[in-house]
Order: sequence, then C-alpha cells, then structure tokens
Amino acid sequence: MLQLSSFRLSLIAALLAGSGFSYAQTTATATADAARNEIAQQAKQTESMLIAWRRDIHAHPELGNNEKRTAQLVADHLRSLGLEVRTGIARTGVVGVLKGALPGPTVALRADMDALPVKESADLPFASKAKGQYLGKEVDLMHACGHDTHTAILMATAKILASMRERLPGTVVFYFQPAEEGPGDFVPDGKNVWGAKMMVQEGAMKSPKPDAVFGLHSWAGLPAGRIAYRAGPTLASSDDLRIKIIGKQTHAGSPWNGIDPITVSAEALVGLQTVISRRTNISSTPSVVSIGTIKGGTRYNIIPEVVEMTGTIRSYDYDIRRKLHADVRQKVEKIAESGNARAEVTILEKYDPTINDPALTEKMVPTLRWAANNDVVQTPLVGGAEDFSFFAKEVPGMFVFLGVTPRSQDMATAAPNHNPGFFVDESALVTGVRTMASLASDYLHAGAGR
Ligand SMILES: [Zn+2]
Ligand SMILES: [Zn+2]
Repeated sequence: MLQLSSFRLSLIAALLAGSGFSYAQTTATATADAARNEIAQQAKQTESMLIAWRRDIHAHPELGNNEKRTAQLVADHLRSLGLEVRTGIARTGVVGVLKGALPGPTVALRADMDALPVKESADLPFASKAKGQYLGKEVDLMHACGHDTHTAILMATAKILASMRERLPGTVVFYFQPAEEGPGDFVPDGKNVWGAKMMVQEGAMKSPKPDAVFGLHSWAGLPAGRIAYRAGPTLASSDDLRIKIIGKQTHAGSPWNGIDPITVSAEALVGLQTVISRRTNISSTPSVVSIGTIKGGTRYNIIPEVVEMTGTIRSYDYDIRRKLHADVRQKVEKIAESGNARAEVTILEKYDPTINDPALTEKMVPTLRWAANNDVVQTPLVGGAEDFSFFAKEVPGMFVFLGVTPRSQDMATAAPNHNPGFFVDESALVTGVRTMASLASDYLHAGAGR
C-alpha cells in the first residue's frame, strides 16, 4: 500500500514536472493553502474574543511609555500561548517569540500599543473615560489612532499561529511596541529615543533576527475590511524644525535703533516656501516644509528681542531629506544675516520615511488579496509618519492600511485618525487578523526548505 502510493505520488510528480510544476512546489502550495484555510476558520472563531480584547484596551488607553496595563495584558496572553516573552523593551514594549516545529525563516509582526491625549466624542459603552498625565498635565485619553485594534489583532494572530505551531516552518516574532505617537512623559530633545527606534537600539531585532517585518494600520476614510498598500516610499519622514530669530529689542517708533526679528522672521517664512518649490527635486516624491507656530513680541510699540517659530519637514527619501535640512538651515541663516539678525536653526530627526521593500511587497500582494477577499487598492503617499520605519530600515518591511470606516458611511465625511470622533467598524478586525496571520504564514511557507 505504502509502495503503491509512493509510486502514484512519483507519477503525479513526474507529470507535474512535465507541465512546468515541481512536486515540491505543489506540496508547498498545498500546505500553505491548508494553513490559510485554518487561519480563515480560526479568525472567524476568534472574532468575539478579538472584539472583547479591543474594547477592553479601548476603554483603558495609555500614553506612550506608560502602556503598563496593556503590556501586562499582552505579556500574560503571549505567555499563556507558550511563547518566549521579553518585557520592558524600550520601557514598556513586549517581544514574543513563537518557534514553529519545522525549520524555516523568521518573520516579525508589529503592533503599537499607545493612545493619544484626545477626548473621545463617541457615545459607546466602551468609550474611554480615562485620564492621564501628558508632559505633567492631566489630559483625557483615547485610542484615536486605532492602536487598540492593532494590539487586539496581533494578540489574536499570535493565538492562531501558536495553535498551528506543529506545522509552522519557521519562527514568528511579535513586537508590541510603546510610544509610536511619541513619548507621553518627556519632550524630545534630539538625544532621547523612544518606541520602535529604541526597541531596535535595545536589540529587539537581534535574537532572533527576522528576515522580514510586517505591520498594519487602521485607517479612517477607507471602507471597513479594505486593504491599501503601496510599494516603495509610503509614509513620510517627520522632523521637527525649531527656529529662533534673535534681533535687538527697541522702541517700535525708532526701529533703526534695534534689529527687528519680526520682519526677519516674516522674510524667513516666505523664503522657506522656495526651498521646496525652487530647490528640491520633486519629480519622484514630494516634500513639505510647514511652519506651525510663530511667537514673538509682547506689545504693539516694542520691537522684541526674539521670535520663535516651529514647524515640520517631511520627505520620502533619505537623500532629499538630508538636502532639505541643509537648504532650510542656509535659507533661514542667510535671511537673518541679511537683516543683521542671528538665526538658530534646530532640526530634530524624529521619524524616518516608511519605505515598503518593493520585492517583498510584490511577493506579498497575493496574500493581501486573499486576506481582504480581493478588496485591495493602492494608496497614494501618506503625509503622516510611522516609526515602523525603524523596523523596516533593519530588514525588508511592508506596512499596509486596513479600512475601518463603515461601508454605509460617506468616506469623505469619516472623522480621520487622531480626531475625537475616530470610529472603528469592528467587522474589519477579522480582516486584520487574516492579514497579519497569512502574511506570516505565507512568508514562512514560501521560504521553507530553501
Ligand atoms: Zn497616529
Ligand atoms: Zn497610529
């Protein structure tokens, strides 16, 4: 019987080989398909638990670097699944390692756990009533960027993949990171680090080192359950711009006796507009320089000593970013010099551009299509930033968007991420689990036996 079936198998293999397929490939595809079926079934079964986790986390939001309750919930859950768990990474981060029984590559999946200082406006039974300390002040807290959904989705993904451990060809590493939105307990000064960057610095990606990393973000204005992706640059780099124009205080009735930082800052502000429009190559990706605040002066008849401006510099390319920093600096310093004033320009690099590895993205698009039942679109560049970029700088990465706006709603009117009215249609969560679990599973199956 055994001999006969091996004979029949070799016959099939020979036939398939003749038609351009190898037996090994066919078997690998069949195993990967079986894994997808198992993921689909379990994702559905886990749905009520997934929603309960999400609501619990949503009702208990915590700011960056203070995700203690959330991290505990995650760590307890991962331990209960039998994973190797490391806690206290980058202050409150958690890393879980799931070793499959079969040899294969290593893939990492990432979720962020932090909330925002926003007061929730929705009247939901699990709406947040939490308060917290943001830079020493009491504030209302809300998961206004959907990081509650990311955490719950990855918890469910870990549960499903852990149950498939015996058939898993490789290792899955789970990163539950703190402070994606920035630290809630200190002001960045260019030296201190947090979140994903700090996790990388603390060696979270060293043992085991993943071959690829995947992340997902809930997105308002995209229909619930739709996946949006793009290859290459996807989210911007985000750098803080701080400008101080120093003049010489005097009576506004006799300006010639001083140096006016108000007019110099106005010239600098206009001059900055030409950094992008006249000096930056925008033929492949755009860039942005925006000033968000101007502060100077105390009284109508006093020319002040100092004007301070803050803003942001965004780009999608490391070389352009470097040039922008130099151009912004030169423009402001020279304009100040021409007005006899002095400029201090400080640029703090906060987030790198998020760049999806083109080859990895191309390879995983069929997985996205399966996970979202073919409802997959390409997204334009996103002007926001993500510290997933620091993981994707170490190894090939792909970061995708999951639509969470109810399909019955006009997408144009959906409250965006970070808005007090940000709302998640929970039917999208299962798609999120299918996405994360199948990205890991398909990646491992494709790499197994190489
Ligand atoms: Zn956000
Ligand atoms: Zn976010």
